[in-house]
Amino acid sequence: MLEVLHRIVKEVSAARDVDEALSVIVRRLKDFLKVDVCSIYLVDQESRQLVLMATEGLNAGSVGAVRLPFEEGLVGLVAERAEPVNLDNAPDHPRFRYFPETGEERYHAFLGVPIIHHRKVVGVLIIQQHASSRFDDQTVDFLATIASQLAGGIAHAEAIGGIDGLRTKRIDGSRPLLGQPGAPGVAIGTAVVVRPFADIDSVPDRPVDNRATEQERFLQAVRNVRTEVKDMVDRMTEALPKGDAALFDAYLMMLDSESLIGATLDRIRDGNWAPGALRETIREHASAFDAMEDPYLRERGQDVRDLGRRILQRMQSEEQATREYPRDSVLVGEEISASMLAEAPPGHVVGVVSVRGSRTSHTAILARALGIPAVMGCDDIPVGRVGGWAIIADGYSGRVYVNPSPAVSLEYIRLQREEAELSAGLRDLRHLISETPDGVRVPLYANTGLVSDIQPSLNSGAEGVGLYRTEFPFMIRDRFPGESEQRQVYRQVLETFSPRPVTMRTLDIGGDKALSYFPINEDNPFLGWRGIRITLDHPEIFLVQLRAMLRASVGLDNLSLLLPMVSGIAELEESLALIRRAHAEVIEEGEAVVMPRIGVMVEVPSAVYQARNLARRADFLSVGTNDLTQYLLAVDRNNSRVAELYETLHPAVLRAVMQVVEAAHAEGRPVSVCGEMAGDPAAAILLLGMGIDSLSMSASSLPRIKWVIRSFETARARELLDEVLAYEDPVPIRERLNVALDEAGLGGLVRAGK
Ligand code: PEP
Ligand code: MG
Repeated sequence: MLEVLHRIVKEVSAARDVDEALSVIVRRLKDFLKVDVCSIYLVDQESRQLVLMATEGLNAGSVGAVRLPFEEGLVGLVAERAEPVNLDNAPDHPRFRYFPETGEERYHAFLGVPIIHHRKVVGVLIIQQHASSRFDDQTVDFLATIASQLAGGIAHAEAIGGIDGLRTKRIDGSRPLLGQPGAPGVAIGTAVVVRPFADIDSVPDRPVDNRATEQERFLQAVRNVRTEVKDMVDRMTEALPKGDAALFDAYLMMLDSESLIGATLDRIRDGNWAPGALRETIREHASAFDAMEDPYLRERGQDVRDLGRRILQRMQSEEQATREYPRDSVLVGEEISASMLAEAPPGHVVGVVSVRGSRTSHTAILARALGIPAVMGCDDIPVGRVGGWAIIADGYSGRVYVNPSPAVSLEYIRLQREEAELSAGLRDLRHLISETPDGVRVPLYANTGLVSDIQPSLNSGAEGVGLYRTEFPFMIRDRFPGESEQRQVYRQVLETFSPRPVTMRTLDIGGDKALSYFPINEDNPFLGWRGIRITLDHPEIFLVQLRAMLRASVGLDNLSLLLPMVSGIAELEESLALIRRAHAEVIEEGEAVVMPRIGVMVEVPSAVYQARNLARRADFLSVGTNDLTQYLLAVDRNNSRVAELYETLHPAVLRAVMQVVEAAHAEGRPVSVCGEMAGDPAAAILLLGMGIDSLSMSASSLPRIKWVIRSFETARARELLDEVLAYEDPVPIRERLNVALDEAGLGGLVRAGK
């Protein structure tokens, strides 16, 4: 059964649209379970009706025509109870309702299971039999498992445009798609779909003007792949046993086959561009293999996909060089990466919408650094269909409108104008100091990592750099940068900000920050080899970086070091020893380097409980709330499925940060926050109330937070902190702080507009 389940799920995910996916489900289930009827009803959330969307066994004409409220019929009963209903003789049940158009009276046995997504019933899956006998438990469990596997995809389809939109394949522009706020601001522009290389399943359809050129483009890619495979065969023939080398012969045969090449050319002739046409052909072939019972033949589906990827890759490398970015590009993709943002010409990207990720993903952090509004975790956006469409992304609320209605557009144009006024007002704060009305200084520093965000950081009025993420210069190279290369990069930052302080964090790779040239494959990367764990295991990498930083600071003396992911005292002591060693070496080489201040990031729960021990050995602490939140709440910071649970205003996070502030102060050490919490206006009030010494954030957040600091007296911040600590849940905490911001005239910081 498991195998059947996998096969159905795979076929469904390869389906071109939802109608096709639903048809596949009912067809396959009816065959496999050997039942007389299999149908799917989906919930129209607006009218609260269940609509028959696909059936095998009932009259085909009843699809779309049968609509019933939750309170009616057995299907309604399944939805109402959100539980399976299993009956041997349905017509006997008081809730049985007869629909003449379906011919349903002939069936007795009835089993319905709810399709539930995010705690909401989105549909009902039904099987029926002529015979009068209850379905066994195994069948009930199987159907429930299928329903749970399909729920996400179905909810996605529903969100695109409701049930009616789904039937007409229309996207409703007045209906927002919901994601997570990623970076504040409002983006109004044109969707530009970006994809990782060679992801054949996410290639969209696109019409072509010159079909002959497009066909030639495809054929050229095929010729290139053929040469590539032939070279491979030559290399492998000697090394591989005969049977295995035959695999490549099969590849070559496929590359010549009419069914693969001819079918793709036909699709291009019908008007689709080459990558879209190829996707369809590969999908068709691969699913034919997937559906085979013979495991050997089923495996061949993978070969077809592999070949498809190779051809696609050839076409994409050429396409990437010619991709056009209008001046109002809103990048849309399954997973927008930092490099995709960097690839676009500067100034052309006005927004980002990513299916995956959340507020604290590194892409969102980068978007904030660049002042680009972003919505993350928008898993309902039909990436394949939106390229070139008008799109609005609201980075405050996480709402996205595709093909927005005139009313929605007008409203957002108004809000964007207000935003611009607000930003102009905030710019005026640039030269004012960050001080509360009762005279408490809370210096604001910038988080940087890219050469391109140095200038915005300076312009924002930052008093220095509170977190320089050194991994970005490592990520954009194809090997570890050497000492002098690193020294140059660091020197530029230190010089630009001098005499202001710059806190450089040592290499923090692992987790979601991968280096292409240092692959780490782990089941739980966030609990694995990351941050200081890697650099302590590789002192040669660590020492090169430390020496580069120290040498870069000669004569400037504005460097502080920050150690990431410290989870115990031993790690700190080993790091201190290596720092002393690097310092001694550089001095020995004749460089007059002063010993930098050394800070520890508190981003692991164990560090919270040992904050005093850490503070005693270090010069300062800096709370990394992005990771601390994920580890305290056990919520992956990049997983959009649990993004709603990721909340830095959670009482547990607040208490942990308070504990760190108290511990640092008890040891006479300053403490800052350099996670995204520092740039959250609501959280900033509480951090002020806790007595935080400084805050470090994206340049784009800095003026907003300065406005907060200059608007709230410390006594008022403490009062609000005490008040919200009485709440047991993050929701009322955020609500209360938003009201406080509104009352102080700062409502524009937490929603679109002024
Ligand atoms: C953090 O975890 O809060 C932090 C600042 O580090 P990063 O976001 O780079 O993991
Ligand atoms: Mg971190």
